[in-house]
Amino acid sequence: MGSIELKSVEKWFGTAQVIKGIDLKIEEGEFVVFVGPSGCGKSTLLRMIGGLEDISRGSLEINANDVTDHPPSKRGLTMVFQSYALYPHLTVAENMGFSLKVAGVPKAEIDKQVNAAAEILKLGPFLERRPKDLSGGQRQRVAIGRSIVRDPTAFLFDEPLSNLDAALRVEMRYEIAKLHQNLKRTMIYVTHDQVEAMTLADRIVVLEYGHIAQVGTPRELYERPANLFVAQFIGSPK
Ligand code: ADP
Ligand code: MG
Repeated sequence: MGSIELKSVEKWFGTAQVIKGIDLKIEEGEFVVFVGPSGCGKSTLLRMIGGLEDISRGSLEINANDVTDHPPSKRGLTMVFQSYALYPHLTVAENMGFSLKVAGVPKAEIDKQVNAAAEILKLGPFLERRPKDLSGGQRQRVAIGRSIVRDPTAFLFDEPLSNLDAALRVEMRYEIAKLHQNLKRTMIYVTHDQVEAMTLADRIVVLEYGHIAQVGTPRELYERPANLFVAQFIGSPK
């Protein structure tokens, strides 16, 4: 479970077309990174997959079911953003379990899920702390933990590390790679950082103002960039 397919997906904001007919099949368990310059449509594309933006034309399938018109809650996906908006008055454990509590999951089950996520993210010692008493990296871990407890089919990340300092970004990049190895879930990860893309991705989708410039493994893009835009973006000396 966890394949995601975009079929001729377009996005129009009024008369401006920002996504220009995207066809893309993401396989179950794949780590796919969307890269491209600011304003090229990465977030819009991710938000359409997550259901936070309507798809103007085309369709979206998850596990071979058409979910184009399904609300976010019916898609089985979870989104992690750069601004991690934790509830300041709740503890780490309560923040992580919040969505399950709202969904009426029994407390014993919530505790089980929260403890399992805390184990993966090494948050065990911090479960009773409040967000203000955590470092930036720990807060980002809690944000990811909130997603894990919901047992999503796929994770959608929109530049989750861009608010962190350089050293912490490297550390969290490693954590996210490990998370993917552990959970083996489909992940779509948006970044404008080439290094993040090259180190995390099974496949990279290079976006160039609303269309796909190239899709391939990091190695394919590096060794055989389709055009100058990709070459310059990936930084290979073509
Ligand atoms: P990226 O995430 O790659 O930086 P975005 O997906 O945020 O790019 O934006 C793609 C384009 O769509 C930009 O030109 C942006 O100005 C435009 N855009 C994004 N959201 C809206 C909106 N709600 N209304 C109008 N234009 C938007
Ligand atoms: Mg963006």
